[in-house]
Amino acid sequence: MDIKTNMDLLNRELRPAGVRLVAVSKTHAPERIREAYEAGQRIFGENQVQELVPKYEALPKDIEWHLIGHLQTNKVKYIVPFVSLIHAVDSLKLLQEINKQGGKINRVVPCLLQVYIAQEETKYGWDRAELLAAVQQGLFRDLPFVDIRGLMGVASLTDHVGQIEAEMQLLEDLFYELQHLTLPANMKMKELSLGMSSDYRIAMRHGTTLVRLGSAIFGNRNYPKP
Ligand SMILES: *Cc1c(COP(=O)(O)O)cnc(C)c1O
Repeated sequence: MDIKTNMDLLNRELRPAGVRLVAVSKTHAPERIREAYEAGQRIFGENQVQELVPKYEALPKDIEWHLIGHLQTNKVKYIVPFVSLIHAVDSLKLLQEINKQGGKINRVVPCLLQVYIAQEETKYGWDRAELLAAVQQGLFRDLPFVDIRGLMGVASLTDHVGQIEAEMQLLEDLFYELQHLTLPANMKMKELSLGMSSDYRIAMRHGTTLVRLGSAIFGNRNYPKP
């Protein structure tokens, strides 16, 4: 099916539930992104800075670009001027660097904290205890150039629905737990970024407000051969 048909079908499910769609355009050429844009899509997600920056430069300026992948501190400066949301802030060091670069251009940068929920070695993020301790210790205070809007998670890539449910439940519980704590002024629990093409319906049962969908919109990705 074409991009517009895919998006229409997805929006029919997502919009009534108030869930926003991040179209994950990594590996796809600007022309395909433009196709989704012409069909009304305005939020796009990329997982690499070196792919995000040229696409930002080439495409319409009313696109909201989200960085959804792991971000290295030395690349923060390239996206801070324009990025609409950084999903995967997985350490205090990274948050401090975003704050520092935001301060240089006087821009408050919207962020989500990535929480580790998958039973996979490769996934980045805070764990529950570490995040709660950081809040209690006030580690997120005094970072006026970051706006922490919520949490992000990536569940295990598995066919085992029960496992995905359990991982998403952890994140949902933590999200509500944090909502009931006294948080610093730069931190709110409004957004939950959970769900990819394979598991977004499960995420919708676990309070997600943003789903990150690539293949469900654009079809399979063709990664360049190594
Ligand atoms: C690639 C990617 C997605 C989208 O994956 P699909 O399975 O194509 O929907 C979502 N989230 C992150 C963090 C990704 O890197």
